[in-house]
Parts: sequence; C-alpha cells; structure tokens
Amino acid sequence: MSDPLLKVENLTKHYSLGTGFFWRTGPVLRAVEDVSFSVAAGETLCIVGESGCGKSTIARLLMRIVKPTCGRVIVNGTDITELEASELRSWRRRMQMVFQDPYSSLNPRLTVGQIITDPVENFERLSRKQRHGLAADLLAKVGMRGEMIDRFPSELSGGQRQRVGIARALALQPSLIVADEAVSALDVSVQAQILNLLMDLQQQLGIAFVFVSHDLSVVEHIGHRVAVMYLGRIVELSACEALFAKPVHPYTEALIAAAPVPDPTRVRSEPLLEGEVPSPINPPSGCAFHPRCPHVVERCRVEVPPLVPIAGGRLVACHVRAPSLTPAASIRERVS
Ligand code: ADP
Repeated sequence: MSDPLLKVENLTKHYSLGTGFFWRTGPVLRAVEDVSFSVAAGETLCIVGESGCGKSTIARLLMRIVKPTCGRVIVNGTDITELEASELRSWRRRMQMVFQDPYSSLNPRLTVGQIITDPVENFERLSRKQRHGLAADLLAKVGMRGEMIDRFPSELSGGQRQRVGIARALALQPSLIVADEAVSALDVSVQAQILNLLMDLQQQLGIAFVFVSHDLSVVEHIGHRVAVMYLGRIVELSACEALFAKPVHPYTEALIAAAPVPDPTRVRSEPLLEGEVPSPINPPSGCAFHPRCPHVVERCRVEVPPLVPIAGGRLVACHVRAPSLTPAASIRERVS
C-alpha cells in the first residue's frame, strides 16, 4: 500500500499554565494526548467531539501554527514538525486552512481579487493580467461570479465570504485542506451549499480534507472516516457510515443519541450524554470518560484504554466494548 498523504503519530500538546509556588511548576493542560491517524489523498477525515476536546488544537498542530509537545506530523513522507521556518514555507503550499469565521479571517481592506491571489503572490510575482485571470478562475471554481473580484468582504454575505476563504485556500493548489469548523458560523441552508461545494472540489481536484466539527450532521454529510475525540484523545476511529449505523464506544453512542433528531416521532432508545466534560488540567484517572459512562467497570477507573483494532477496520479505546489483554500487547498487535 502506498504511503498516506498525511500521517500523524502520537501527537501531543500540553500547555503549561504559568508557574507555581517557588520551585514547583504550574499546572499543565493536556489539550491533545497521543493522537495518531492517517489521511489518504482525496479522503475526508472528520474530527468530532464536544467543545474543548482538542479538535482545533489538532488543526493548528497540523498546520504548524502551534508546535507539538511531542509526536510527528508527516506529510508526503516528510516530518514537518522538525522543519525550520524557511523550509516550512514551501510545505505550506501543499496544506491550506479554511477557518471558522469568514468575517474575521478575511482582510477587510483588500478586495476579493486581492485576497484570493495573495497566497500565490507570496511565492511569485504576478502581472496584473495574470492576477486577474487567476482570481476569475478561482472565483469560478467556488461558484462566484467574476464581478465579485472588486468587492470588499463587507459587501458579501456569510456564505460568499466562506466561498472566498475556500478560493484563497485553493489558490496554491494544495493536496490537503484543514477546515476548522468551516460551516459552523453559517445558516443551515448555506452550510449545505458550502459542504456540497467542498465535496465537488474534492471530486474535481482530488483534495484531501481534515474536517474539524462539533456538528454530527455536518460530519455525517461530508466524512469518509471519523475520529471521535474525548478530552484530548481519539476514542473511536471508523468509516463514517459504520460509525453512525452502529457506534461502538459508549461516548460515540451517547454523542449520536444526544444530537438533535430531525424526526420528532423517533423515540430515543440510546442513553443521553449527562454531566460536563472534565477539565483537561486534572483529567479523571484511567478512561477519561468513565465518570460519565453507563457501562463503567473497575478497570476503567485505573487504566487508560488503548485504541485497539476491532472488526470492520475500526479502532476503539474502551475496556468494555474493545477489551485488550494489556496495553503493551495491543500495541504489539497493531505494529505487527
Ligand atoms: P475544541 O476545538 O475541541 O473546542 P481546543 O483544541 O480549542 O478544543 O482546546 C482544547 C483545550 O486546550 C481546551 O481546554 C482549551 O481551553 C485549551 N487550549 C487551547 N489553546 C490553548 C492555549 N493557547 N493555551 C492554553 N490552553 C489552550
């Protein structure tokens, strides 16, 4: 099998929150803990979970906006976590980001044409004619009329602004786009248009997406595979359809059960998610989900469950639903 486009190995991000008294160090916030996954060319991997579980931190780690505490981000076989700023520049061409808020992520003083050709002009000088041609081409790709070139962001709707954000991301012909809550700020009808646009672009251009979202309906619409996160860790990673048809981890099950149901006559049989997400500064021992889990057993309180393969190519971290002999044994199994 060929190497994946993106491979993430044991990615971890801890934030030190100031210093403590005298010689003692301050508390540590564990935003992302030992996360591994891969993304193939042209694939969409969604990362889903409740607010604060580390989704955006992963997006920022992938783009090297923040540096990991440890772990590796390998793009086309090169570990980008080790690159110097000058080397990183050329890698940025292959990986682009689309942000949540199309209002604050576009420079209000630039025209649409300037905004979307700006990334290319960071690498090469364009003539007026080339710039205009490129802008018109990018606008057509995202379904906007050419006359929008001279408009300013303030003259556009939310959906149009997000299309401009996508056009800007496409300018350098990336093989991977990291989208962080890219449709969360938009009305539901506009969300569907933008999601369909992203899916069309993927078909035409073979772009891979890492799509971060807290919204399960968005994930179900766009994802090929889904990584479900809880308190900095992946608890389940599965093909999208299989995950929604039959969630395995109790957290995934509860998350899907807690999502708004479009059909009011449907009776919920699954457990609802109760209680708050614990603090990543002082996470629960063992499985971080155990204080909220209806299936908790003693082992869950003391031992962090490893992410182990189960039938159907899924990975699940749960002592009850995917029991492993020992963490060490499960790791050997995965490696061999
Ligand atoms: P999500 O995107 O899932 O809502 P985030 O990745 O934004 O979660 O945050 C994960 C955790 O890391 C949260 O507890 C958040 O408060 C914390 N966090 C994020 N960025 C920083 C930072 N720069 N300094 C300290 N803590 C941070």
